[in-house]
Amino acid sequence: ARPSAPESRWVVRLPDERATARLARELAPLMRPGDLLTLSGDLGAGKTTFARALVRELTGEPALEVPSPTFTLMQAYAAPRFAIVHADLYRIASADELAELGWEEAAEDSLVLVEWPERVPFLLAAERLDVALRLDPGAGDAARVAVLTGVGAWAGRIERARATHELLAH
Ligand code: ADP
Ligand code: MG
Repeated sequence: ARPSAPESRWVVRLPDERATARLARELAPLMRPGDLLTLSGDLGAGKTTFARALVRELTGEPALEVPSPTFTLMQAYAAPRFAIVHADLYRIASADELAELGWEEAAEDSLVLVEWPERVPFLLAAERLDVALRLDPGAGDAARVAVLTGVGAWAGRIERARATHELLAH
């Protein structure tokens, strides 16, 4: 049997949109070129909000416009350390369609943020950070829960992020 990659899970409660943005900013320093970060959750869960905060932090441009890539499917950003590709692949159904978008070239050595990873199982690398967002019923309209799953190198990085997060909370 193939040895399975280490995996680490962290569940974070996000009482409001600012908490979601803050979590994205905390994770930003851990990002490396070539990394894959998936964002899953229903419409309105906060996937784009999370990606926007991450792009703003990594580019160092806090007011940068980061539109939802719902219609363009893919948006590219230049950050000082590496390029970022932010994609919404809800309307992608095959590897061919993805190739037509110029995915390979765009994603190479970039940090790749993918909304709707469920649509592109063929794309998912073994090593990645999965961020699943959902509403937190009973905690208010603006409350969300994020389940972060780090696989491979991301397992250790998630552990460190959690430790830093808990330190900052006190
Ligand atoms: P998605 O990309 O998952 O469809 P968006 O980020 O585009 O979601 O939209 C999330 C919506 O929910 C935004 O209108 C945002 O203002 C709102 N919102 C409320 N609370 C939160 C929260 N805690 N985190 C993220 N977004 C929130
Ligand atoms: Mg979105």
